[in-house]
Amino acid sequence: MKPSDYLIEEWVKEHGIITDAGKPMYFDKDRKFLLKPFTDISPKIVALKAAQIGFSTISILKALWIAYRMNLSIIYTFPTGELMQKFTQGKINPLIEANPVLRNIVAGTDNTYQKRIGNANIIFSGAEKESQAIAFSADLLIHDELDSSKLAIIKQFQSRLQASKTKWQWLFSHPSLPEIGVHEAWQKSDQKHWFVICDNDHEEYLVFPESIDAEKRIYICKKCGVEITNEQRAKGRWIAKYKISEDRPFSGYWIPLLIAPWVTAKEILDYSKGDQYTFYTRVLGLPYTQGGDKVNIKDILKNVIPDVNDQEGRIVIGVDTGLPIWYVVGNRQGLFFNGSCKDYEPLKDLMRRYPTAIMVIDQGGDLIGSRQMRELFPGRVFLCHYQRDRKTLQLIKWGANDETGNVTVDRNRMIQMVIDEFRDKRIPMNGSEDDWYDVALHFTHIYRTTEENALGVPESKWERFDDDHFVHAICYWRTGMARFGTGGAKIFMNDTTYTKESPEITPDRTMPAIDPRKMYNFEMPSKADDWRDDE
Ligand SMILES: [Zn+2]
Repeated sequence: MKPSDYLIEEWVKEHGIITDAGKPMYFDKDRKFLLKPFTDISPKIVALKAAQIGFSTISILKALWIAYRMNLSIIYTFPTGELMQKFTQGKINPLIEANPVLRNIVAGTDNTYQKRIGNANIIFSGAEKESQAIAFSADLLIHDELDSSKLAIIKQFQSRLQASKTKWQWLFSHPSLPEIGVHEAWQKSDQKHWFVICDNDHEEYLVFPESIDAEKRIYICKKCGVEITNEQRAKGRWIAKYKISEDRPFSGYWIPLLIAPWVTAKEILDYSKGDQYTFYTRVLGLPYTQGGDKVNIKDILKNVIPDVNDQEGRIVIGVDTGLPIWYVVGNRQGLFFNGSCKDYEPLKDLMRRYPTAIMVIDQGGDLIGSRQMRELFPGRVFLCHYQRDRKTLQLIKWGANDETGNVTVDRNRMIQMVIDEFRDKRIPMNGSEDDWYDVALHFTHIYRTTEENALGVPESKWERFDDDHFVHAICYWRTGMARFGTGGAKIFMNDTTYTKESPEITPDRTMPAIDPRKMYNFEMPSKADDWRDDE
């Protein structure tokens, strides 16, 4: 055997492999930091990566090589089928076309979705539908752009992996929020950082804003302030903070744009003035933790209990209308079911199965459907309006007389109350974490901002950046529980909070924003070796 038979970098050299753009694939000079991620064939790899660093090209080349040399079947996913198709046509096919050695190994079935390499297959798939996750099994799952994918579908892909003896997983993405997607895996990794050396022999990794002199617009050593040149940034080395172990099975890379030698300090400073979510996740390669209160997925999932709900007492169903319709079902013992449906039939079934059940349904999403439900089940369906009652400060106001069948709710205070109750572990959810994962995920898609109103009083508002339907379904359920949830054996809620004279929930009950530097223990060691955790 010659080295190119078992070393991917030798194979690339021997065959003079070029990129889809026709440039030689080399890893010296500016791209030295990509060499180790490229040659790393650990079973579990995670990369928190900034945008535009050429990672996808090396991932696909690696996938082809792994299938060819190691005979592993691979599923390679992108967030959607459409993106996957664009990637195949725009990157993968041109890469194969440009290189005779790749053309030779890709044989048989060769289309957008599947490439046959020897006895192994690479399946290219979107990660948006359940059907995609259950169609094939694989030895290696590569999830590209993981944090833009539907994580519930990713979980299904991963459960398919159990069938294989190999169970490899490579996760690449810009991060999104703490403890989600690649950042969750990063915490279970050896956490490799790119260390560079200044003229005074300080070895450190670059962080924002400390490693940039904003006035001179240059990279600097955090310790002595001397300029760190592009050449010095290029010449770094990867150092792992931890050792790989049973609890830390992932080989992890943190790849912020700061370490790309072709990205100037001025460019970083310019990006820092733009949208902060983009700056954190796409430029710094960090989960976004700034700018307001966030819900941690564990705040919700810690409420999951395996106990079986006896489904007795008054059942309340909270429904967020739209396409699809999202709903939760619960009683005083907690929430015992959640789901989504295309039409109202499953909801009608629930109302028939539980003859005393009541439903609180959002009136804003689907006016016709929600009114039809109220007509079909008179006295049992309430249309919920989000509206702030500035005079009485009532959290919940049930309509009287002509308004019977309506309820108005102070949206932001209700969301806050539900989140506080979850954080206090006061809303049990029966079942497994898998059963409630989608629900919990919707809570991580909202964040709180606080601004002064016209009177100079700070007011908090919950906004969303992605699907948050279950948040509202639970708010509607909670609204119904406040009135109809009395009686029953177990009491998990303190009803005195929800009387008509409900006090204003103080807006400054904040979870302090996490400083990402603290999260990463971004304290500068005197030497890289001191910083390593050798436990
Ligand atoms: Zn220095």
